Amino acid sequence: MTDLHRLSIRELSEGLKTAQFSSRELTEHYLKRIAQIDPKVKSYVTVTAEQALAEANAADAALKAGNAHALAGIPLAHKDIFCTQGIKTTAGSKMLDNFISPYDATVVAKAKAAGLVTLGKVNMDEFAMGSTSENSYVGATSNPWALDHVPGGSSGGSAAAVAADLAPIATGTDTGGSIRQPASFCGLTGLKPTYGRVSRFGMIAYASSLDQGGPMARSAEDCAYLMNVIAGHDAKDSTSINKEVDDYVANLNGTAVKGLRIGIPKQYFNVTGLDADVKARVEESLKKLEDMGAILVEIDLNMTEAYVPTYYLIAPAEASSNLSRFDGVRYGYRCENPVDLMDLYKRSRSEGFGAEVQRRILIGTYALSAGYYDAYYVKAQKVRRLIQQDFLKAFENVDVIAAPSAPTTAYKIGANLSPTEMYLGDIYTLAVNLAGLPAINAPVGFDKDSLPVGLQLIGNYWSESQLLSIVHQYQQNTDWHTKRAAIAEENA
Ligand code: GLN
Repeated sequence: MTDLHRLSIRELSEGLKTAQFSSRELTEHYLKRIAQIDPKVKSYVTVTAEQALAEANAADAALKAGNAHALAGIPLAHKDIFCTQGIKTTAGSKMLDNFISPYDATVVAKAKAAGLVTLGKVNMDEFAMGSTSENSYVGATSNPWALDHVPGGSSGGSAAAVAADLAPIATGTDTGGSIRQPASFCGLTGLKPTYGRVSRFGMIAYASSLDQGGPMARSAEDCAYLMNVIAGHDAKDSTSINKEVDDYVANLNGTAVKGLRIGIPKQYFNVTGLDADVKARVEESLKKLEDMGAILVEIDLNMTEAYVPTYYLIAPAEASSNLSRFDGVRYGYRCENPVDLMDLYKRSRSEGFGAEVQRRILIGTYALSAGYYDAYYVKAQKVRRLIQQDFLKAFENVDVIAAPSAPTTAYKIGANLSPTEMYLGDIYTLAVNLAGLPAINAPVGFDKDSLPVGLQLIGNYWSESQLLSIVHQYQQNTDWHTKRAAIAEENA
């Protein structure tokens, strides 16, 4: 079969169960595509061909024995922020270029236990700081829809790999939009779960109170399959929540949209910098949902102006603390010939971290310093609570909230936006993490340059099943999620 990469997760699962093809054939098919097509996309940092084939053989044996998990034998790619035992985990940083984890992240362990086959590790902005994946020390990844554009970030490698059909599904992480925004830029479905739903154990920390892992895929149904594997309580992560996990696949239904109250925040659609095509596509998708039975309700989210400054204080503050462990002594990069301990710290950190990471460590350290802690950090925490309350108030009257995932489509590689311009591009995604809410991106069309546009739906806590169902029903009634970038049409 030459078109195995066209199959959905459900089709792959059925095909493997009924022995239409083996996991070995499927894995070889993807590895061949990666070898031929990825040099143009540059989504993978590490391809684990040998291990993948061994895992595929094991999955084939389990499938034959009839005791395989629903996803056994299906390949996936992991964002290079998830620790993988025996395989390099770089988090996109020179600091970790030589880091081989002695253990698997819980997400990785769960994927392995389900029999999923790891194709490799995919590119990302250094320590997940960025919106383009250009902050990676190995260089930029291309957007499969236009190779001179970025795939978004920080989970840009995950998005590009799936959008170029170089992996059927991928893991990502979202601290301030890093699943939703690259999904939007690459025409994919991506879910940022409620904080605490997916274990952070073994996921290299950026901002611990905001970080959350989740699935990136071609459809809501595919995301649901991966959520079934990765969600759940983990005793190794003290912020993981001990709450029953839904069966996200079984819960997908065709009745989520009828009578659904979708809040449209007035403030969101008047943001300066909101691209006219993005606005038009998002509004068309909302009209479509309305035709399917949803009720659109205008709402107020009065804290909108505070999102960017609040996030860009709290996230760097936590990052400055989390990244203090990279000191040239315990982990990763160490400078050559240090003259003394101070020189070792200084040079290891200034040579090992890229410019954006250093910028954030500086901002965070400043905000946490004795003289400024109350004025900045404590203030930001108070505003964070107000942002959460703003959402909870809105959810008294609506079921979900609609927004673009990003004000624009994908930027050109090397566009060289100033840090402030770049941060402002995160306006629609940051508040969800500050409040700990779940949200999903769904592809809803293209701009004038044929670049994908995404609709974001924000739900109340633990509404992952509902969000997946809404998008699933939308996808049963539209075909945006079936469109493929030209490069994905190439046969290896
Ligand atoms: N773009 C945001 C940042 O740079 C979000 C990144 C993320 O979600 N990891 O912090």
